Amino acid sequence: MKLTAMTNDEIRRINQDAIREYEDFKSQKLELTMARGMPCAEQLDLALGVLEALHARSEFANSKGDDCRNYGVWNGLPKMRAIFSDMIGVPADQIVLGNNSSLQMMFDCISQGYTHGFGGCEPWCKQEKIKFLCPVPGYDRHFAVTEYFGFEMIPIPMLKTGPDMDILEELVNKDPTVKGCWCVPKYSNPTGITYSDETVRRFAALRPAAKDFRIMWDNAYCVHDLTDTPDTLLNLYEECLKQGTEDHVLFFASTSKISFPGAGVSALAGSEKSIAEIKKRITVQTIGPDKLNQLRHVLFLHDIEGVHKLMQGHREILEPKFQLVQNALQEELGDLGIAKWSKPNGGYFVNLDVMNGCAKRVVNLCREAGVVLTDAGATFPYGSDPNDSNIRIAPTFPPKEKLAQAMHLLCICVRLAASEKLLSERA
Ligand code: PMP
Repeated sequence: MKLTAMTNDEIRRINQDAIREYEDFKSQKLELTMARGMPCAEQLDLALGVLEALHARSEFANSKGDDCRNYGVWNGLPKMRAIFSDMIGVPADQIVLGNNSSLQMMFDCISQGYTHGFGGCEPWCKQEKIKFLCPVPGYDRHFAVTEYFGFEMIPIPMLKTGPDMDILEELVNKDPTVKGCWCVPKYSNPTGITYSDETVRRFAALRPAAKDFRIMWDNAYCVHDLTDTPDTLLNLYEECLKQGTEDHVLFFASTSKISFPGAGVSALAGSEKSIAEIKKRITVQTIGPDKLNQLRHVLFLHDIEGVHKLMQGHREILEPKFQLVQNALQEELGDLGIAKWSKPNGGYFVNLDVMNGCAKRVVNLCREAGVVLTDAGATFPYGSDPNDSNIRIAPTFPPKEKLAQAMHLLCICVRLAASEKLLSERA
């Protein structure tokens, strides 16, 4: 039965039960975190072969004869770029490899727009106003980068098909101060949504009012399937070629959730023109990336088949955790009508929307009882969720038993906050 359809007495009983269960939990003095989307130790162990790949090796040349121990090869090893090419669908010679963080590559691109400008336009720092479109809920670190440069962030609602393209097109195509748009097109952080074919085509067909507009296509979860019915994402690069709009897009990915977040390989890709422009910066920034790490990734992964095989191992560890989250939510909140949640086919998150005005309360209650969640509001620009309803669940890191405890507590807190709210509204 829906909580809103209950009598005050019935709600009071639910509230009192939740308080009692909550106090029980508090006395256990738990210390758990579901705050960030990190792989667990078992997942990291799957890639230990990366570290062993270079042991006792006396040959450090890549396929072109460059010594990987030395400086040089500004854009990274061809075989590693070929693996990324198969992952993100952009030709290998238009891919540049970085060190462990694609977020850093994104930051550096924005920084380049800020100091030097894109496409011969005035640097963003000299333009009066810069706006970035931010599909919400979205990835907090994208928003943090945008805020760091002082750009105005405009939230764009996420629909089941991706960002609301009617709103997005109107802004991009008419407002020359709109310079960028963040996208996590597959298994979006945190909604788990994969952009529909039509959405991808509409991105490719954008006719930006600003010549220096860039889509930040962060394909962080491109091979991170968790079910037998994985989502498929249309290739934006190919769609852009058909439209002649390939210069508008910068593509990003990394092996952070394939091998190691702390010691993986990242990638940036774009049109020939974009890469030529970015090359001018990168070849001043560094005399070459960490090619030994690229080499050991190549030796360990071999090719895209190797990536898929490894990701199957990740799936075996993660699928039961995601299932546990679904079961807990269904069993403990299913009929009450006080929460909605996503059931993603991949990625790293489950998106939970609680009753308006309750997300902060739920997250605080959890924290006081020893379970740390991502801050309420973090999935919105400026950390401000207008409905105070969105909570990001990151089930990958805790062991299953702890995840079960954390989910139980979370559900208790959702019931507690919702019943408290309804009772105070009816008082
Ligand atoms: N993009 C998205 C959408 C992410 O969720 C994450 C990790 N949480 C990153 C980028 C970070 O990637 P990297 O480790 O390559 O910096």
